[in-house]
Amino acid sequence: MSEIESIRKRMASSQHTARSVVEASVNAAEKLNDTLNAFLQIDRAGAVKRAEEIDKDSGPLAGIPIAIKDNICVQGMQTSCGSRILGDYHPPYDATVIERLLGAGAVVIGKTNCDEFAMGSSNENSAFGAVKNPWDTSRVPGGSSGGSAAAVAAGIVPVALGSDTGGSVRQPASLCGVVGLKPTYGRNSRYGLVAFASSLDQVGIFARNTEDVARVLGIIAGRDPHDATTADVPVPDYTPELSADLKGARLGFPKALFGEGLDAEVRASVESAVAVYRELGAEIVEVELPHAQYSIAVYYIIATAEASSNLARFDGVRYGFRAEDAPELRQMYRKTRDEGFGPEVKRRIMLGTYVLSAGYYEAYYHKAQQVRSLLKQDFQKAFERCDAIITPTSPTPAFLIGEKVDNPLAMYLNDIYTVTANLAGIPGLSVPCGLSAGRLPIGFQLLGSYWSEPTLFKLAHAYETAQPFTERPPIRSE
Ligand code: GLN
Repeated sequence: MSEIESIRKRMASSQHTARSVVEASVNAAEKLNDTLNAFLQIDRAGAVKRAEEIDKDSGPLAGIPIAIKDNICVQGMQTSCGSRILGDYHPPYDATVIERLLGAGAVVIGKTNCDEFAMGSSNENSAFGAVKNPWDTSRVPGGSSGGSAAAVAAGIVPVALGSDTGGSVRQPASLCGVVGLKPTYGRNSRYGLVAFASSLDQVGIFARNTEDVARVLGIIAGRDPHDATTADVPVPDYTPELSADLKGARLGFPKALFGEGLDAEVRASVESAVAVYRELGAEIVEVELPHAQYSIAVYYIIATAEASSNLARFDGVRYGFRAEDAPELRQMYRKTRDEGFGPEVKRRIMLGTYVLSAGYYEAYYHKAQQVRSLLKQDFQKAFERCDAIITPTSPTPAFLIGEKVDNPLAMYLNDIYTVTANLAGIPGLSVPCGLSAGRLPIGFQLLGSYWSEPTLFKLAHAYETAQPFTERPPIRSE
């Protein structure tokens, strides 16, 4: 059942006020932060003040506490991107998605921890310490939006926003046992989202059920004059589709992606989800994505190329941190960037600069763009035969903190199932489907064609109804 709906009902019957709901959420955030490190800022005073101005008629999200990844601008709060170079930078404006959430009555309670500039799959790249997985605090929550995923999994907030450039909403959602959406490219505005790789970035949504994700998407989606890449595609009411039945639905099964490198428990769990869909009346059709095998290589060329360009703006002049003892300008740039950026960000700037440099541009960047087009065509062909494709979200459940930090390639390979959606621009939704023997969440991913969010929601909701995921992590608010 929708948690947004149940909070609204409690407010309507005066069991709760916006203030009591928001205070409970802030209390939980403060109490659990020593253990989880999910928040970089908790704004008790601001949240309570705003909640006092809200009553049950303030909009579809009246009094709903929300956590925001610390790379999305919220006026009056910090935007650090998990980086020392931004430190306690305070943006002078709200991101468009924030403006729309606030317009609907939501209350932002804090900014969540993340990998530095959203680069990572484990949250260990944050300059402010790793986030812990509420299911097992010796393990990562996934990344890069790990703080948002952990906050929703632990029951601190019913909804959180993250950003997804190559899986940063879906992968942590999967590792933390919550639902996570990356919408179609152009569905949401990126205005006020600090850019990592502009042709891949989208703001995504975490919640504990599909219905809440659908409700929030309906509020934040749509054209924005501040972001020319938003599309002028009508925003439907995403909720009615939820109860539709699956008769006649065709679910694509890319068999080749269930092979090498996939953890046995994850495979078994996702295959049982496929069996559930079959029982619900969906037809399972085998599909092929012949270029998916190149997706990690293509992604790490394109994403780093775009990042090296986007991150050029952090020079010690315009934002946040500036190194001391650097009297000469070039020296100041160099020292600021050296002291301000962490090792993974530097690695990516160097990789990106390399693939864009004269002599290598054609061989790497240009080639990667060509393969990206082939991958898009793979999906187009596959979607002629099915309504959505099912894959695992992550090849393994949550790994141990420290397990992969010294091996960037092993870390990058985590993104094998998620980067394809960003490269193609299509939507992807991760849905929890079980626990491993070690009680770690496992998720499957649904991929759909452009603007097919309603189909993904319908499929996910049907699964949730047939096979509810009711387990809760040991670290949680009550
Ligand atoms: N893990 C991927 C990376 O490190 C994805 C990050 C993201 O989606 N922001 O690039």
